Amino acid sequence: MTTVSVTPLMQQYREIKARHQNAILFFRMGEFYEMFYEDAETASRVLGLTLTSRNNGAAAEVPLAGVPVKAANDYVRRLVQRGFRVAICEQVEDPKVAKGVVRREVIETVTPGVAFADDLLDGSRNNFICAVATAEQRDGVAKNETASVVVGVAAADVSTGEVRLIVTNPEELDPLLARLSPREVLVAAGSRISLPASRSEALVTERDAWEFDASMAREDVARQYGLLSLDGLGIDAMDGPAVSAAGALLRYLRELQPAGLPQLARPTIERRGGFMPLDEMTRRNLELVESLRDGGVDGTLLSVLDRTATPMGARLLRQWILAPLVSREAIEARLDAVATFCSSVVSRDAMREAIDDVRDVERLAAKAAASRSTPRELRALGDSLAALPAVAAALETAAAETGRLRAILDSWDDASEVASHLCRVLVARPPLAIGDDATIAAGVDRELDELRELRDGGRDAIARIQAEERARTGIASLKVGFNKVFGYYIEITNSNLTAVPPDYQRRQTITSGERFVTPALKQYEERVLTAAERIEARERELFEQARAVAGREINRLQRISRAIAELDVLSTLAEVASREGYVRPTIVDDFDLEIVAGRHPVVERMMPRDKFIPNDLELVADARMIILTGPNMAGKSTVLRQIGLIALMAQIGSFVPASAAQVGVVDRIFTRVGASDNLVRGQSTFMVEMTETSAILHTATSRSLVLLDEIGRGTATYDGVSIAWAVTEHLHEKIGCKTVFATHYHELTQLSEQLSALRNFNVAVREVGDQILFLHRLQPGGADRSYGIEVGRLAGLPPAVISRARTILAQLEGEHLGGGGDRRRPAAPATDQLALFGTAPHPIIDRLAEVDVNGMTPIEALTTLATLAEQAKQHGRS
Ligand code: ADP
Repeated sequence: MTTVSVTPLMQQYREIKARHQNAILFFRMGEFYEMFYEDAETASRVLGLTLTSRNNGAAAEVPLAGVPVKAANDYVRRLVQRGFRVAICEQVEDPKVAKGVVRREVIETVTPGVAFADDLLDGSRNNFICAVATAEQRDGVAKNETASVVVGVAAADVSTGEVRLIVTNPEELDPLLARLSPREVLVAAGSRISLPASRSEALVTERDAWEFDASMAREDVARQYGLLSLDGLGIDAMDGPAVSAAGALLRYLRELQPAGLPQLARPTIERRGGFMPLDEMTRRNLELVESLRDGGVDGTLLSVLDRTATPMGARLLRQWILAPLVSREAIEARLDAVATFCSSVVSRDAMREAIDDVRDVERLAAKAAASRSTPRELRALGDSLAALPAVAAALETAAAETGRLRAILDSWDDASEVASHLCRVLVARPPLAIGDDATIAAGVDRELDELRELRDGGRDAIARIQAEERARTGIASLKVGFNKVFGYYIEITNSNLTAVPPDYQRRQTITSGERFVTPALKQYEERVLTAAERIEARERELFEQARAVAGREINRLQRISRAIAELDVLSTLAEVASREGYVRPTIVDDFDLEIVAGRHPVVERMMPRDKFIPNDLELVADARMIILTGPNMAGKSTVLRQIGLIALMAQIGSFVPASAAQVGVVDRIFTRVGASDNLVRGQSTFMVEMTETSAILHTATSRSLVLLDEIGRGTATYDGVSIAWAVTEHLHEKIGCKTVFATHYHELTQLSEQLSALRNFNVAVREVGDQILFLHRLQPGGADRSYGIEVGRLAGLPPAVISRARTILAQLEGEHLGGGGDRRRPAAPATDQLALFGTAPHPIIDRLAEVDVNGMTPIEALTTLATLAEQAKQHGRS
């Protein structure tokens, strides 16, 4: 299209759109935001808007869709939730005074990762945007230096102001991102970072590679926090890649918020090794924060533990669950605090009650800092801060001489002056927006008080004027009134017109009389009318000042918020522990994991109390591997997951569902769950299964806990059992980790004869007639059969099918075992792995064994050989 034929308005649109290519541009036109071209098409599709068109001066029709400004928030929300960016372009000059086309500017871009509106946020989780940078780091000595790739991640939640810098290695990017679950990820265009498939729901935003430049980033980050160098933030050379990422992130945030970046708290530096990385599959398989069924919270560990009273507590608990600790001291510190709240019900109740009055200080403070609070939100911040002394009092009764609670108390800060300022300046129940109802309390500002008196007194004054004028004119029916067109007026009925004084000026004739004004009345009017406007302006000014008082303290308020969040979580864990009958685990630095009467924290709650069968379990150095067999529905998966959950709960500092537990700190928990249970991710399920298994074998160490629920089921039986066999050997011999392997391959139970630290267990069932009873109890030894047919019967397979299956099974077992009839197969000699598939000699082998070569003529030998070869070929074909 040639620019010549384009209207000036569309010309302006194009210029702005050119700068916001990857956003949907909401172009303000009067009472509507209009979208054009592809934006209009996308919006009409996603939002169900009617697509129309607009004549663009030339012959070309421009596709157009619009939303009313009043309803815009909802449309923005829907677009952003679907992963779009929305650029809001406003008219930035008064259309009445504009010459030519009204000037317009994009004032803000909302994206999934950068949103402030409550309806785009979930109170119980952070809304992180992450920038990911890579750098090569040289290790080793001068000559044969090797370069390894390190990954820097900068994560920001603009809704809370939290910023984190993390340096990690490429393998741990997946668990890291799984933990932060960012809605948006920035990467350098052309970079080799491959984001984990698990992050497919995040919006990926490519930025120019130079934006990740390290030295530029260092300056930029320092400038953002008003510092000369980054040392003050505790950032050192090792954190370089994270700083690069932060540079790119800040630049992007500024671009989205041209009016000024929201206040961000100083970054916290997360070093590697502090947390247990949890990969996506483990996070999902253990159903930590999302259920496998529908991705919701129901049925997750989080749903059992989350009795938090504040949103920041809920967010922190989620963070803790996704980042278990690996240092015994750090774990003990949390457990000590939980134990304190467990043993003192009084201080726990006091704490829970006090914290209940605290709202989302973190987001309220971030809103204040970003100049986005409503009067109601600012007051809520004030009220929440005012509730803190009660929290401190509760803490005082709980805290011991030392420990985490004492540390929180020692650095206690109420921001009491901020609290009292906000509560003094704002009325107790301010309106949503500054306007009709008062926001600023009386007695705060002289000017405001005077204006209010004038406004309110103004009404009295009108009554007074009316009385005076009646007295002066002797007209008893004289009325002072008001209308929009003429303002205040004096109304005289027709019969009294003769008594009107000369200083009355006629303004309007009505059927019943005339309306007049006087100079005195006009003067009043002026003052009264402007009073309302001036009150609003003054309120706005004072409100901004109050908001700034809180906004300035963002760092402090964030620290306070973190302390409250921690107290909330610690007391919540105590609350849950006492309610659910958990015990404090003993944390040790050595290898052993020993659980007495362990339960599954989620499954046990789905059944009546005490109906869940607890189980003991030991994984110790010389018995570190368990092969778990038993029929479907016996409870293998439940036991498997409960081991992982108990270890994980212990390492986040929670008590655990058991009557006693000793947990040797594990560095990683890995889980892999049968292909059939898994969500298909576009790869063949067997491929997914092998990829996941491979990841475990490459990453697990002797300090890891590996939980396998079936391996190799996605392929032919012999393939599958061979892989499962080899994996088991590898884990036992090469890695030496704690392993529980639930499987249907009974063949694997034979491995206990070969692998010294392997134990067989099964989940007991009892046969009653031809029925089976699930006992859900772990017992030593392998299961001898699968009871698949019995389970099929329970599931309602037709009796004819069941009975036919029994016949076939009997036949198969007969053939397989050479008619031995014994369901338990003979043990395999360790050297002869073929034996694992049954040791019945084949007829050909039988025949060979009978051959007496010495007693044969060459011809006989040849004939025998030919016969055997023919039989072998036929066997191969059949
Ligand atoms: P499997 O993995 O052996 O097929 P699951 O672990 O899925 O079996 O358990 C099947 C069902 O049995 C569970 O949904 C649960 O209702 C019940 N169950 C499992 N373990 C127990 C237990 N220890 N006590 C009581 N019920 C249990």
